[in-house]
Amino acid sequence: MQPSSSKTGWFPIVLRLDGERVLVIGGGNVAANKVQLLVPTGARVEVLSPALSPELQTLAEDGVITHVQIDVTEADVTARLPGCRLVYIATNDNALNRSLAAVCQAANVPVCAVDDPGVSSFITPALTTRGEVQVAVSTGGAAPVLARRLRAKIEEILPAGLHKLADFMQTMRLPLRAKLPNPSDRRQVWERFLDGRGSHLALSGDTAGAERELDRLLNDHSLQGEVWLVGAGPGDPNLLTLAALRLMQDADTVLYDNLIGPDILNYVRRDAERIFVGKRRNRHTLPQEGINDELVRRAKAGERVLRLKGGDPFIFGRGGEEMEALMEAGIPFRIVPGISAANGCAAYAGIPLTHRDCAQACLFITGHARADGTLELAWETIALRRQTVVIYMGLNMLPFLCTQLKTHGLPGTWPAALVERGTTPQQRVFTGTLDTLPDLATQHDVVSPTLVIIGEVVNHRVQPTQEVQ
Ligand code: SAH
Repeated sequence: MQPSSSKTGWFPIVLRLDGERVLVIGGGNVAANKVQLLVPTGARVEVLSPALSPELQTLAEDGVITHVQIDVTEADVTARLPGCRLVYIATNDNALNRSLAAVCQAANVPVCAVDDPGVSSFITPALTTRGEVQVAVSTGGAAPVLARRLRAKIEEILPAGLHKLADFMQTMRLPLRAKLPNPSDRRQVWERFLDGRGSHLALSGDTAGAERELDRLLNDHSLQGEVWLVGAGPGDPNLLTLAALRLMQDADTVLYDNLIGPDILNYVRRDAERIFVGKRRNRHTLPQEGINDELVRRAKAGERVLRLKGGDPFIFGRGGEEMEALMEAGIPFRIVPGISAANGCAAYAGIPLTHRDCAQACLFITGHARADGTLELAWETIALRRQTVVIYMGLNMLPFLCTQLKTHGLPGTWPAALVERGTTPQQRVFTGTLDTLPDLATQHDVVSPTLVIIGEVVNHRVQPTQEVQ
């Protein structure tokens, strides 16, 4: 499930070989292994070799493969390349294998010199087959032993009747398409089929039962979409909850904010539709009502919509408004909490939010000014000792915020900290006081998102050994 960012030059595809000519050069056991893989595809296999292993000999005698009995030279191969789909080279002469591979490469015919990925243009993955279901494992030729070990594990977990299930699904594909023209509807029916008793029936070969179950799902008009309001945490994907991860893997559509970075989005199902609805300063992409309408519209169309939000959906995340809109429209929804910026940033910066010595309470406030530039807060309850104040969206109004706290009774030496891009590899932490904090932000070009933490807990900061895990 975990996406990988590392590069590989190998691209797995599933190639049609039925009726195609394939050359296998070599007649020993290694060649025989490849022939065993090729024969079930219906390929026309020609084996070029002076001699054949007993196994290949039998196949040749039965007319399953064609044996060309020659001491293979470059010219022999060149002569046979036209109209040839693939070439396997498996003689026990490495130098010969290489020179023949070069001939194929020059003619642009895909070639695999067995155990020699350096001169090959394709390699054969470790295969697990259950009828039409094939699972191929490749390590890009780097570690065939590892590939085979993985295949053994896959063998263990794939149910034996899998081909029956695949056959059933193939048989029902066209009839289902006729009844449900919309691909997303079909996908939903199939997923419910696979999640429910349908898959067990098909796996055990009870085709009639499986068909009845599919019919039942088709006629079930409750195939309504739903919306999941999910908190994705402050940035580090390690802080995603298991519930968030599962829903990210199940969603048809994802509506996400600008707080959701590519590291998090990587975990969303690959073919889910992704829609950016974030608000960039001075450039509102989609107003809140627009987002609410979009959630309702898509759920009504049967989609499973993931509304992915930075931190926690109910902390300065407008999750409450979206939930109300869904309630009004009668759309089923789920809420998954996330680690809010306060929790994440405090932990990764090593600043406790409460402390027995100095902070018996912790207040989360917004520093976001109204459109007219004003910000009204209950300063008399905020500018207090023995509590920590965490300010979300406080960067733009930082000088005003610090001045207000001082005007309402806190000293200029009162400790304060900024956590920029908390929990990400770019995290920066600056500590100072109410007097120094605005200048610190300017000097260091602190950017959004930044969290402000104010209170004596800042003096208790202990840098974790590893700031970003
Ligand atoms: N629902 C979110 C908050 C959204 S408001 C939550 O629970 O965390 C957006 C503000 O959150 C930002 O302006 C910033 O103050 C804070 N924030 C979010 N992610 C942050 C991060 N990784 N580092 C620092 N601050 C962050």
